[in-house]
Amino acid sequence: MNKNVPYKIYLSENEIPRQWYNVRAEMKNDMSPMLNPATGKPVSVSDLSPVFCTELAKQELNNKDKYIDIPDEVVNFYKMYRPSPLIRAYCLEKELGTPARIYYKYEGGNTSGSHKLNSAIAQAYYAKEQGLKGLTTETGAGQWGTALAMACGYFGLDLKVFMVKCSAEQKPFRKAVMETYGAKVVPSPSMETKVGRKINEMFPGSSGSLGTAISEAVEVAVETEGTRYALGSVLNQVLLHQTIVGLESYKAFEKIDEYPDIIIGCAGGGSNLGGLVAPFVSDKINGRHNPHIIAVEPASCPSLTRGRFAYDFCDTGHVTPLAKMYTLGNGYMPSASHAGGLRYHGMSPILSQLYHDGYIDEARSVVQTDVFAAAERFARVEGILPAPESSHAIKVAIDEAMRCKETGEEKVILFGLTGTGYFDMTAYMAFNSGTMSDYIPTDEDLEKGFATMPKTEE
Ligand SMILES: *Cc1c(COP(=O)(O)O)cnc(C)c1O
Repeated sequence: MNKNVPYKIYLSENEIPRQWYNVRAEMKNDMSPMLNPATGKPVSVSDLSPVFCTELAKQELNNKDKYIDIPDEVVNFYKMYRPSPLIRAYCLEKELGTPARIYYKYEGGNTSGSHKLNSAIAQAYYAKEQGLKGLTTETGAGQWGTALAMACGYFGLDLKVFMVKCSAEQKPFRKAVMETYGAKVVPSPSMETKVGRKINEMFPGSSGSLGTAISEAVEVAVETEGTRYALGSVLNQVLLHQTIVGLESYKAFEKIDEYPDIIIGCAGGGSNLGGLVAPFVSDKINGRHNPHIIAVEPASCPSLTRGRFAYDFCDTGHVTPLAKMYTLGNGYMPSASHAGGLRYHGMSPILSQLYHDGYIDEARSVVQTDVFAAAERFARVEGILPAPESSHAIKVAIDEAMRCKETGEEKVILFGLTGTGYFDMTAYMAFNSGTMSDYIPTDEDLEKGFATMPKTEE
């Protein structure tokens, strides 16, 4: 172990990985295939091509190639904000009085304020390459919409973002940032789509959900010439792009001659955690190392800890294929929690399979007041104002470090600090004024969501 680790372990520009790592090529059990709901058969590239650009449809179904080249233009864009630093949390360690060595990979150092730009730029690049005019997407908390707006702005593509209505109302500045980068933002459910009109009719005054916004964005993509749809998490292609985070972390640890004993990440749709842990999961699969991997999710949207591992739609309007994943049911309406980026009913099929097979060792759910307490403790010593989503990982990293304090173990802890929280000050204000409450769904609440899942034979 190198005792003289700097605060920030930077890689050089030339050390940015040139290939993403496709964990599916090494998984002992590949995930169950996505199914076309009309035929019940596994989807093909031609099934997906009306929705996604062709190259991304191919990536979605690729379980053969262990490495996939990152296009030069994407690497060049990465150079604007990557490599991102791996930071040794010396100040947090001191504050906690722990013998653990804590590291975090910081993805908040770009204007979108999160890791989401890593996939947004790749998806926009392939759309441009294919000669498309534009993309559609949805955004919940707003980070993904912002990232894709930046990426589309860079390549001169049109972008229409369906933004979950309550979020659009709570976060007007997010909308303004997207518009600044040239995107058109539509609160969802809208009156622009069949799905949106139907939801508005069924639930007048609906404040929207990610599942509904996805249905709207897909509908517009399929019906508009030269337009495809982009998604910010859950999909295999997104997890693939996010492996840049894990690959850089891996290299940085090699430089300082350390290796994490515990790896922690928040899990919304699962792409950031999947990307962070992928190279370490490769070590587990191949028997080289066995770090303990923990997924952290909000108690209000507990897909891994209380969901079912089954086929479900990826959206509420049932326009997407069926994926086998941990899910709360496509009709599950999470309460208005402040970690908007973690409020999705399902979980990446890759991450779900890895969890099912024990490569993700553990999932924990945490309540939001504990998350914000951890966020503030972290902010006051480490300086960075963390996103509520990222703070789920901080909470568990602190718990693990405190356990080391009790046992005296000098464990190496790595967690993903996925982004910054400047647009989440309403949530911080609620926490600071003591008006934030915790919501844990009852089993009955969850049953309502499960009842919306399709009945498929295993
Ligand atoms: C979207 C988002 C997440 C959730 O990421 P997933 O890859 O969907 O799990 C976490 N943190 C931040 C800051 C986000 O914007």
